[in-house]
Amino acid sequence: MSDRWEVVVVGSVNADLVVEVDRRPSRGETVLGSDLVVHPGGKGANQAVAAARLGGRAGIVGRVGDDGHGELLRGALAADGVDLAHLETTPGVPTGVALITIGPDGDNSIIVSPGANARLGPTDVTAARAMIAGASVVSFQLEVPLPAVEAAARAAAEAGGRVVLNLSPPAPVPDELLALCDPLVVNEHEAAFLLDGGGDAGALAAALARSGPRSVVVTLGADGVVVADGDGVTAIPSPKAAAVDTTGAGDAFTAALCLRLARGDALRDAARYATRVGAAAVRKRGAQSSYPTPDELPEP
Ligand code: ADP
Repeated sequence: MSDRWEVVVVGSVNADLVVEVDRRPSRGETVLGSDLVVHPGGKGANQAVAAARLGGRAGIVGRVGDDGHGELLRGALAADGVDLAHLETTPGVPTGVALITIGPDGDNSIIVSPGANARLGPTDVTAARAMIAGASVVSFQLEVPLPAVEAAARAAAEAGGRVVLNLSPPAPVPDELLALCDPLVVNEHEAAFLLDGGGDAGALAAALARSGPRSVVVTLGADGVVVADGDGVTAIPSPKAAAVDTTGAGDAFTAALCLRLARGDALRDAARYATRVGAAAVRKRGAQSSYPTPDELPEP
């Protein structure tokens, strides 16, 4: 394993199209919203930007379309210094978009149209093999097709890299993939999806850790995280933050976790640092626009 890249993200690149509404339309109804705002997003791109902004050597393996959104997203990733050698442009296919409405309480409703993200496949993984094998940590989410995730996770593990999977959006994954995760990162909703039930976060994390992954992190929003591995279960609080917009907080958290793991932190120390990054990310609007540099982190 080399540490040419600290964090390589294999994942989605989306334009977030955001409109604020006083209330959501019911079936067949039209309502007026605010002016449209377009933010760079996608869980994969968010993580790559968050890791790079924290000073990490980050790369992304993904696909955009040959349209204006693709240009915008490429520019945003480049501005933070993310290695784009394996961000492919897919002719004749739109870039992925997330159609986001924000209600009066700041609550999100999101429809994702995958576009070019859906074209990411094992051949892209083969093309990016040197980057994947050269990373200390390779990070995944589920906004790109599972065969690409499986192929890349196998390639990373074979090269001695650490595999981190954020099971978002939640979907069933094969046991072989789960067994590579160190950690599996889920919020409470995703944890309940995997376990087919709810319960206390510590119990959820412990049950998940017994179900296959090498370690588990359950994120709990303002309440921080619970970490479970062979050393047991540990709750880590989040620093207090006046939340303005929680979009992309989980991506910032996971990216920070990956970066600190790449730098040799133990899982609990990495998670403690990452809660500071997650808390910083809720203080501003947007996803990538809210991500902190190291000097913008709250105290633990
Ligand atoms: P997701 O966005 O994937 O649902 P969470 O909402 O659990 O993930 O947020 C991820 C992490 O971001 C949390 O574990 C926490 O560290 C931080 N975070 C999220 N919301 C807040 C908040 N309101 N105040 C402080 N930290 C927060």
